[in-house]
Amino acid sequence: MKPFQYRLAKSVPEAVAALAQIAEARPLAGGMTLIPALKHGLAAPAALVDLGGIASLRGVSFENGELVVGAMTTHAAVAGSPIVNERLPALGRLAGGIGDPQVRHRGTLGGSVANNDPAADYPAGCLGLGATIVTNLRTVSADEFFTGFFSTALAPAEVITSIRFPVPMRAAYVKFANQASRYATVGVFISQSANAVRVAVTGAGRSGVFRAGEMEQALAKDFRPETLPAHCVALDDLNTDLHASAEYRSHLINVLARRAVEACMGAPSRHPVRHGGAYAF
Ligand SMILES: Cc1cc2nc3c(=O)[nH]c(=O)nc-3n(C[C@H](O)[C@H](O)[C@H](O)COP(=O)(O)OP(=O)(O)OC[C@H]3O[C@@H](n4cnc5c(N)ncnc54)[C@H](O)[C@@H]3O)c2cc1C
Repeated sequence: MKPFQYRLAKSVPEAVAALAQIAEARPLAGGMTLIPALKHGLAAPAALVDLGGIASLRGVSFENGELVVGAMTTHAAVAGSPIVNERLPALGRLAGGIGDPQVRHRGTLGGSVANNDPAADYPAGCLGLGATIVTNLRTVSADEFFTGFFSTALAPAEVITSIRFPVPMRAAYVKFANQASRYATVGVFISQSANAVRVAVTGAGRSGVFRAGEMEQALAKDFRPETLPAHCVALDDLNTDLHASAEYRSHLINVLARRAVEACMGAPSRHPVRHGGAYAF
C-alpha cells in the first residue's frame, strides 16, 4: 500500500474542498471496496477524504412521495429502517441481502452506487425504481448515472449526498447470489407504478447494470410472469466468467424476473428466503 493523506471531513463543503484541493484524492465511505483496492495496489490515491464524520449524510426520510436515503447510510441501517420497510420493503430486502453482517454494517448506499460494481445490488434498485442520485452539485437520474462497467456520471470531487427513491405500487428484487461473496451472479429488480414498469438487471451485463426493455414492454401490457420473453438480451452482451456462462445468465434473467413478478403479485415464495429476505439460491 502506498502512503496517502487522511482527512476526516465534518461537512459536505469541507469534503468537496479537500477533494478539489488535493489531486487524486478519493472520498472514503465504508471502505469495503476502497480499502482492499488500496491494499492490493489497485488504487493509489494521494488522499482519502473520510465522509464518516458527516452526520447529515446518514438517515432515511419520506418526503413528497419519495424515500430519501443519505449516502452514508449503511446497508444494515436501510435493511432495519421502519420507514423503508413500511414504504418500500423491496429496498429493505435488497439491502438485507448484501454480503455478510460485517459488510452490511460498514458498506454504504453512496459507496455502492459510486462504485457501480457490475454485480452490485443497489444499482439494480436505483435503476429499477427510477431513482434520482443527489450530489453536492446536481441531481442525476439513475438512467443517466450508471454509464458502464465500474463507471458513473460522477465528476472528480463530486460527492453523492443522498438518493431519492420514488415509491411504486409494487416492487421486488430477486437475486441468484454468489455463494461466497453474496454478490449477484444475476439479480432482477422489477417495479410497477401507475405509468411505468421498470426491469433492471445486475450481475449479467458486460457493461454493468441495464434495463430489460423487452420485459418492461411485455409487463406493461400484461403484468404476469407468463408474458415475459424467454431471452431478452443478446448473448454477446452478457458476461461469461468462472461463475456462469452467458447462456446460463440469460436463463437466470428469465427465471428471476418471473419470480420477481410473482413476488410483486404477492405469491408465496416456493424458494428459500435467506439473508434478510432477499431470495438467494
Ligand atoms: C466480502 C464482500 C461482499 C460483498 N457483497 C456484496 C453484495 O452481495 N452485494 C453488493 O451489492 N455489494 C457487495 N459488496 C460491496 C459492499 O456492499 C459496498 O457497497 C461496497 O464495498 C462500497 O461501499 P462502501 O461504503 O464500502 O464504499 P467505499 O469502499 O468506501 O468506496 C467505494 C468507492 O465509492 C467512492 N465513494 C464512496 N462514497 C461516495 C460518495 N458519497 N460520493 C462519491 N463517491 C463515493 C469511493 O471513493 C470509492 O471509489 C461486498 C463487499 C465485500 C467486501
